[in-house]
Amino acid sequence: MRLSMITAIALYSLVITGCKEQTNAQTDKQATAAKVQSIFPKGEKGSSEYFTGNAYTNGLVPADSTYATLVGNVYFEPGARSNWHRHPAGQILIITDGVGYYQIKGQARQTMRKGDVIQCPPNTVHWHGASSDTGLQQLYIIPNTEKGIVEWMEPVTDEEYSN
Ligand code: MN
Repeated sequence: MRLSMITAIALYSLVITGCKEQTNAQTDKQATAAKVQSIFPKGEKGSSEYFTGNAYTNGLVPADSTYATLVGNVYFEPGARSNWHRHPAGQILIITDGVGYYQIKGQARQTMRKGDVIQCPPNTVHWHGASSDTGLQQLYIIPNTEKGIVEWMEPVTDEEYSN
């Protein structure tokens, strides 16, 4: 009688613990799906003058006379994107996690995923940012900074973003 009661309690605990663990695992899985992995510090929130939504930039290599190359990381939260802009000497994007979009004005929007490398030609109007449900971690490299770094333009509208 006593043994079976202990067994019953043990079984009950197991069921409760089991259910709780499953719930936690599901919650963790959802959190992981929404969150992308970062290699670098999150950095500073980008100005709403240049970004829609929350984007965080972290400088890695400052442009100086030795390298004339600017390197940094941007984390775009889901739905966040840059304004339209162009780089006088072009830009290279290396996607390290998440899912995002890149669009050259007048062309179709492209999807970018972890491992993608994008070469954006000089003086080409474009935007980049995260997908609506997954964030994006992108490294950017701007070469030949003596030609200029970036010329900012108008925000990317919701209609342009979803096209
Ligand atoms: Mn750019």
